[in-house]
Amino acid sequence: MIDVEDARQFVLSGLTALAPTEMTLADALGCVANDEVLAREMVPGFANSSMDGFALRAADTAAGRATLIVMGSLLAGGVPSGRVEAGHAMRIMTGAPMPEGADSVCMIEQTVVDSVAGTVEISRSLALGENVRYAGEDVKVGQTLVRSGDELDAIRLGVLAGQGFASVRAITRPRVAVLSTGNELVSSGEALRHGEIRDTNRPTLVALLREAGFTPVDVGAVRDEYDEIRSTFERVAHECDAIISTGGVSVGDVDHVKGVITELGGATAKSMQVAVRPGKPFAFGRVGPRRVPAFGLPGNPVSTRVSFELFVRPALRLLGGHRDIQRLCVDAVLDCALPRSKDGKLHVVHASARFHDDGRVHVESVVRPGSHLMSAVAGANALALVPDGDGYESGEVVPVMILNTDALAHPRDEAM
Ligand code: AMP
Ligand code: MG
Repeated sequence: MIDVEDARQFVLSGLTALAPTEMTLADALGCVANDEVLAREMVPGFANSSMDGFALRAADTAAGRATLIVMGSLLAGGVPSGRVEAGHAMRIMTGAPMPEGADSVCMIEQTVVDSVAGTVEISRSLALGENVRYAGEDVKVGQTLVRSGDELDAIRLGVLAGQGFASVRAITRPRVAVLSTGNELVSSGEALRHGEIRDTNRPTLVALLREAGFTPVDVGAVRDEYDEIRSTFERVAHECDAIISTGGVSVGDVDHVKGVITELGGATAKSMQVAVRPGKPFAFGRVGPRRVPAFGLPGNPVSTRVSFELFVRPALRLLGGHRDIQRLCVDAVLDCALPRSKDGKLHVVHASARFHDDGRVHVESVVRPGSHLMSAVAGANALALVPDGDGYESGEVVPVMILNTDALAHPRDEAM
C-alpha cells in the first residue's frame, strides 16, 4: 500500500499549468489570469452625482438655510449646459456629470421644491463635495486591476469590463474526458436486464467537473475490452487535457484500465493500492503525445467521489493554474462517535458539518461506511479524515475537508 500523501505527490509532481489563451470575459469565469492587467481608463471618468437631487455651491448653504433658483435638469448620460452660479441650483440625477460651478449635491429628500416660483429650499448646510463622486476615485490609470495568478471571479470580470476590455489572457480551462468502463453498465433511460446497473459514475463526474469549473467531455461507457479501452484513451488524449475513467483498476479478471494506463504511461504511470478507504485501487499515468494526466478511479461510486477529491480535483486545479489547489480543511468537533478499526488506512467518511454557537465547526452526523452506498452520502458537505487507529469518541476533534462551504452556515445566518 502507498500513503495518500505519497500517491498525491506522485500525481502532482511534474504537472504544470496549461498554456494561456485569450478568452472572452464571459468565458473566463473561474479561470486564472495569466498576466497582470493595468487600468487604462480612470473610473469614474468624470465627477458625477451619487444622488438624485440638486447640484449647487456648498457656500450658498453656509447659513443653514437657502432658497436657490432652479436652472434646468441633468440626466445621467446628459451633458451639462450652463454654469451653476451663486444662488442657483441644477436638478441632477444619479450618475449625471457635475455641472461647472457646482461643488456639492443636496439629495432630493432634503429639499422643498416650489415649482411655481422656480426655486428649491434647502434647510441645512452642505459639506463641500457632499454626494459627489470624483473622477478616478475608484480606479486610476496604471493601477493594477488583476495580478497574474488571480482567479477571475464575477467582480474582477466586472472591473475588467469597466475598462472596456472584452477579453483577458488566462490559463486555459482544462477539458477533461470522462469515461466509464464495465460490461454491466447501462446508460440512463435504457431498461435494465438482470445483472446490469445504471452508469452513475460518469454523470456524477461530469457534474463534479462542472462544479469545480472544468470543462467535462463525456466520452461514454466502454466495455471491459483491453483494446477498446486503450484506443479510447489514445483517442481522447489528443483532444483533452486530462482523462478520468472509472472501474477496471482493481484485481478482477477484466480490470484492464490499470494495464492500459501503465502501458500508455510508461515510467510516469503507477497502478496503486492507496492506504485509504474507500478508494484503495487507483491508477495514474501521463498518456499520449502531450502526456496528459490519466486517472483510473475505482468503480464503486463512493470510492470514485473520494478519489476525485483526493487526487483529481487538486491535479486539475494545478493544470488550471490555481494557487490554492486543496479544499479547505478544518479541525471539527465531533457531535457523534466515529469508531473504526486499525487497518493501516486513512478512512474518509462523508459527514454533515456546520458552524455552532461556540464558533467552531461541528460534525453533526456521519454516513455509515460502504463504498456502494451512494444515496447515503448525497447530503454530506464534508469528508472526515480519520487516521489509522481506533477512531474518535463524541466530543473529540477530527480533521474534515469541506466540500460545500455554504452548507457550513450557522442556523442564525439563514435568517438573512
Ligand atoms: P470495478 O472497479 O470495475 O471492479 O467496479 C467496482 C464496482 O463498482 C462494481 O460493483 C461495479 O459494478 C461498480 N461500478 C463500476 N462502474 C460503475 C459506474 N460507472 N456506475 C456505477 N457503478 C459502477
Ligand atoms: Mg468493472
